[in-house]
Amino acid sequence: MLNIVLFGPPGSGKGTQAKFLEQKYQTPQISTGDLFRYNLKNETDLGKKVRAYMDKGSLVPDEITTQMLSDELDKGKSPNGYIFDGYPRTTSQAVALDKILAEKFNEEVTVTVALVVDDEVLVQRLLERGKTSGRSDDVNEEVIRHRITEYYTKTAKVAKHYKAQGKWVEINGVGDIDEITEKLIAVINEAMIKED
Ligand code: AMP
Repeated sequence: MLNIVLFGPPGSGKGTQAKFLEQKYQTPQISTGDLFRYNLKNETDLGKKVRAYMDKGSLVPDEITTQMLSDELDKGKSPNGYIFDGYPRTTSQAVALDKILAEKFNEEVTVTVALVVDDEVLVQRLLERGKTSGRSDDVNEEVIRHRITEYYTKTAKVAKHYKAQGKWVEINGVGDIDEITEKLIAVINEAMIKED
C-alpha cells in the first residue's frame, strides 16, 4: 500500500495535486475538509458540531476529526492505499494516523510531501478561489488569514513527527501545476523504492 500524506497550508494546492495522484496511483484521496463540508451540506449531527469551527477557519477538535477519518477508513480497505489531504493537522492527529494505519491495515505512512507557498500568494489564491468555490471560508480575508495562522501555530509542528521518521519532503508549491505534479511523482516513486 502507498499511503501519501499531502501537507501544506490552505491554498497550497493539496487538493488539486491529490486529484492527479489519485488517478496515477489508484489511491483514493481522503480529504477531511471535503468530508466535513459534506456533513455541513447535509446538516448531519457532525455537521452541526463542526460548523462554528469551520466558519471561523479554526481547526475542528482532534477527537471529532480523527473519529470521522477512522469511520471513513472503515468503509472498506483501498487495495493500493490512500492520499491523505488535510489530515493530519496536529501532532496528536499524526500519532493517531500511525496507530489507525497500523491497527486497521498493518500499514504505515509511506511519505509526507509538503507544498511550500508564500503566505501572500496563499491569500491571493484563496480569495481568487472564493469567487467560484462556494466555500464561505474562502471569501473573507480575515478567515483566510486565521486559517493560515492555524497552520503555522498547530500544523507546521507536525513536520517534526515525520522528520523523526525520515518521511518528510518539501517541494516548492509555486509554479506550473504539471511541473509540481511531476516533482511529487518523483518524490513518491523514490519513497516507494525505499520502502521495498
Ligand atoms: P480544508 O478543506 O482542508 O481547507 O479544511 C477546511 C476546514 O475543515 C478547516 O479550516 C478546518 O476547520 C476543518 N478541517 C479539515 N481538516 C481538518 C483536520 N485534519 N483537523 C481539524 N480541522 C480540520
